[in-house]
Amino acid sequence: MREKKEYRQELIATGKESGSGFKGFDQSNAFFATSAPIGSDEFNTTKQERIDFFSAQQLRHGWTGYKLGKLFVVVDHKPESVMSPGYQYSKGRLLPVWEAVPSCDMCGTHGDEETEVWNWGNPYDHGTICDDCQETVNDSR
Ligand SMILES: [Zn+2]
Repeated sequence: MREKKEYRQELIATGKESGSGFKGFDQSNAFFATSAPIGSDEFNTTKQERIDFFSAQQLRHGWTGYKLGKLFVVVDHKPESVMSPGYQYSKGRLLPVWEAVPSCDMCGTHGDEETEVWNWGNPYDHGTICDDCQETVNDSR
């Protein structure tokens, strides 16, 4: 059985209701955990459910729309630094270490078992692309 992993999908406000009062932060997160591989139907379903759930809260409290930001995954847990301001509250509790899951610059996919997303380029011109988009780019040359 695959290990269950924790994910965090960024939600970014594209607009807020006018008027006075707090309309929410510019950014929020949809948290979810699944053992399904990235890009699988089960993964996408779980992710979408949580996006719907978390975005509904924001839309009720002032957002008028949102778009998806980056997807992050917990890759490790480590104790909070003694030097950090939050230390006295966490008392050495383990904090998740988040790492961005690469996504294709062209279509936004995180890839799946057949389609890989990879880094291309040099220090001056670079990005990420998936196998599908690479094929499209090659065909258009
Ligand atoms: Zn792509």
